[in-house]
Amino acid sequence: MTSYRLDHALLPTGVAADVHLEVEGGTISSVRLDGHSMALSGVATPVQAMDTRPAGCSVTLPGLANCHSHAFHRALRGHTQTSRGSFWTWREQMYAVAAGLTPDSYFALARDTYAEMRATGITAVGEFHYLHHQPDGTPYDDPNEMGRALLAAADAVGIRIRLLDACYLAAGFGNPPEGVQVRYSDGDAHGWADRVRAFDDPRVGAAIHSVRAVPREQLPVVVEAARGLPLHVHVSEQVAENEACVAAHGLTPTQLLAEAGALGPLTTAVHATHLTDEDVRLLGESRTNVCFCPTTERDLADGIGPARRLHEAGATLTLGSDSHAVIDLFEEMRAVEMHERLATRERGHWSATELLAAATYDGHRSLGFEDAGRIEVGQRADLVTVDLDTIRTRGTGAGPETLVFAATSADVLRVECSGGRQDDHPSTRPGEDR
Ligand SMILES: [Zn+2]
Repeated sequence: MTSYRLDHALLPTGVAADVHLEVEGGTISSVRLDGHSMALSGVATPVQAMDTRPAGCSVTLPGLANCHSHAFHRALRGHTQTSRGSFWTWREQMYAVAAGLTPDSYFALARDTYAEMRATGITAVGEFHYLHHQPDGTPYDDPNEMGRALLAAADAVGIRIRLLDACYLAAGFGNPPEGVQVRYSDGDAHGWADRVRAFDDPRVGAAIHSVRAVPREQLPVVVEAARGLPLHVHVSEQVAENEACVAAHGLTPTQLLAEAGALGPLTTAVHATHLTDEDVRLLGESRTNVCFCPTTERDLADGIGPARRLHEAGATLTLGSDSHAVIDLFEEMRAVEMHERLATRERGHWSATELLAAATYDGHRSLGFEDAGRIEVGQRADLVTVDLDTIRTRGTGAGPETLVFAATSADVLRVECSGGRQDDHPSTRPGEDR
């Protein structure tokens, strides 16, 4: 058993001072507050190994969940900023990197990206993986060699991973994959499902790259194969995607996904930037998660999605650093509110507590990890301690507002991560098919 004394801790009830934790086998077994035990047993036990940091200078929050990552995009950081253009011109630069990757270089990029995540307080990542095959489209001897490189990278760093294996079959509505996209394609949705089944690792979840990349008639095949698993999908990041989808099918991407039975509490719509009122209603009523990636969305000039409207309609907000132009979940939290301010010219849309929930418990849930994201008995002991005595945080207090509106990833003092486990099966909730 390991014991911790935390100056301040973000508990489900708010920030508390002088919190004592006991951890057994990577799981929190006791939380004591001012000497009062919150353990299930109710038996107070003495603290055996006191933390020696000075009192009153830090706050500990649960591990952060980065719900949308393409680890290899990290290679583009600092190399795309001088070119004019749009998401689509950036995509050509990204495809050039994708064309040259091998299992070894994919592993190395992911290992370094995950190491940066872990150092900045991220203890779980949802890796959206579509680079499956050799450059000419031929599968590797092990058709899941690229995916296994990502799992190995997460293991090397000690970060928990949900590998969201993406079905990617088409270059657009009615077009076969072209250029580097042949590396992404399994031919059809059954081919994708067979490969994912052969992966045989409980950390694997599912993804539909987008409605551009999976034909309408094949969407239900993916949905069926992903039953019980987290299913993530890029949705309406670009206006051009919406226009092409409506032209091809007379439906928006969200309507097409609803038709295929793809929406629900185990599903995450990534970006959800350009939505109609009907799209917002469909995502909200189905209790679908929506993963916003504000630092990437502004980097790629995507636009500002209706985060608050989605929340009020019933969707659950989560966060991701996506292309890793920036890896700082504190900045992602802050940016959700700041972008709403720019879009509406009003302040105060999101509370700090709501944004912290998105970055912790709600994010973990969307990855199928219900045992992490809160400092309470029975949860994993993933603990992120933020220094309250840096040049940025000094004098700001220990409350949630400091974590969201003052701190940055550079203020993370210490990260305890119980790491991945071979038995990381997705947790499903009773009565939830999707
Ligand atoms: Zn993405």
